[in-house]
Amino acid sequence: MRKLEERILKDGKVFKGNVLKVDSFLNHQLDVGLLSDIGKELKRLYNDCDITKVLTIEASGIGVGCMVAQFFDCPLLFAKKTKTINIKGDVYKSQVESFTHQCVYDIIVSKDFITSDDTVLIVDDFLAKGNALNGLIDIVNQAGAKLAGCGIAIEKGFQGGGDKLREQGIRVESMAIIDKMDDATGEIVFR
Ligand code: 5GP
Repeated sequence: MRKLEERILKDGKVFKGNVLKVDSFLNHQLDVGLLSDIGKELKRLYNDCDITKVLTIEASGIGVGCMVAQFFDCPLLFAKKTKTINIKGDVYKSQVESFTHQCVYDIIVSKDFITSDDTVLIVDDFLAKGNALNGLIDIVNQAGAKLAGCGIAIEKGFQGGGDKLREQGIRVESMAIIDKMDDATGEIVFR
């Protein structure tokens, strides 16, 4: 999506450790017009899939997830991160290794909100190594729901998570794919 690529070039900041900061428009302060355009594009791409639920992970997936769910006229469900092993109620649980915080945490989703009748579109702000998406896919599988695919705002293609999922036959649509970025020069190259 050209508009997103232009915004990344204008406002994105490349940090050490392959981290791109886009918190002025994507995951801290939100440009709702831009997020709405992402929602519109994912609706176009997944229009024939009869999506019944958009699934994301707190906290930074929620903004884009809400806008996407609006276009599919379905609920947004977000996995909660928890450090406690004492799980409350009846939940699906998976484990995710955090790219940004370098720790492992549990994610949980209530069994009340995802069932085998659902067709799920997984959405997130970033795709790097694919750990967050793998945790969410695990939960969709535990629920016996159908996975339509994934919709990502920014994929860092050079970290390989997206291509690994595609090799497994999982549909991954990313609005911008970065093939190279350099924290010394600030250069960002798109696929
Ligand atoms: P993965 O699990 O695919 O390795 O990383 C994706 C998750 O880590 C996303 O949920 C996102 O919140 C976070 N993340 C990964 N890379 C970046 C990045 O470069 N910048 C920001 N802000 N978050 C990232």
